[in-house]
Amino acid sequence: MRKEEISHDDAFFLMTLEGNDIYDLFYWANRIRYHSFKDVINYCSIISVKQGRCTEDCTFCSQSNRYKTDISSFPLMQEEEFADAVEVGKRLKADSIGAVTSGYGLEGSKDFDTMCGYITEMSKGNEVPIHTSVGVLTVEMAEKLADSGVEMVNHNLETSENFYPKICTTHSYKDRVETIKIAKQAGMAICSGGIFGVGEGLEDRLALAFALKTLDVDAIPLNFLNPVSGTPLSLEKSIAPMDILKTIAVFRFIFPDKEVKVAGGREKNLRDLQSWIFYAGANSTMIGNYLTTKGKTAEDDFQMIEDLGLVLKRNRTIAK
Ligand code: SF4
Repeated sequence: MRKEEISHDDAFFLMTLEGNDIYDLFYWANRIRYHSFKDVINYCSIISVKQGRCTEDCTFCSQSNRYKTDISSFPLMQEEEFADAVEVGKRLKADSIGAVTSGYGLEGSKDFDTMCGYITEMSKGNEVPIHTSVGVLTVEMAEKLADSGVEMVNHNLETSENFYPKICTTHSYKDRVETIKIAKQAGMAICSGGIFGVGEGLEDRLALAFALKTLDVDAIPLNFLNPVSGTPLSLEKSIAPMDILKTIAVFRFIFPDKEVKVAGGREKNLRDLQSWIFYAGANSTMIGNYLTTKGKTAEDDFQMIEDLGLVLKRNRTIAK
């Protein structure tokens, strides 16, 4: 298979395919996925280490304190709870576990040092790697995370630079780009993607993809809005399953050898078409629950992988 970069115009053409042609798009996206990853599928899990009470106004998020949602909020969990949550991730056979905190960032907060302490402890002995998503980073914070054993940082761009002010006004797109660059400079891999179905257009989806390409991110999580009552997007029309699958496929064309991960909103938006994500080109998804919503059971996901003739990537703990 030739390794050529897809142009914006060609990607736009693929995004606008309709009818039976969409199945040809999936066929080729699947060929690219297979060329890069064979039958192996990655599964990561996440832990909500600190939840809610966020001062930011991201319109899709139930954790902002500006919206009346019925999620539970809690401060940074204790070390024992964190260790228990990591054990759950290991039992789910996750190949990595993402520790996520709500809020703009942890700069100047003792929570940051506490988190680093937890991660240092849990990273001992070549266990399942702990990744983090702790908001914006300074150079010092990124270096400390890396020293604590963090190999990958998640920080999503969320959408295009043009559309970003429509979904968040309290911090800027540039802040997000800067954090990605800082984390990269500290030697960590970057997991960065976005959320779809928040009112953006096809051009915004492509602008996001090409911005991520320019930043040379390592994994691209694709989230699909699961509207939460009380948020400004609670009545947003669901993104159609075929649009989701087309988006996955076009991201696979743009990122032929990178981890394209279907993250939040899989169950709610794809319904019976969840197993199609791999044929549409994804090589990765999440297992277990999301931050504030429930996922499919792990058993159902394992069965889906087996039924498709695919295999789970063995995590370090299992491989020992
Ligand atoms: S996405 Fe993050 S920064 Fe935005 S409101 Fe939610 S928790 Fe806060």
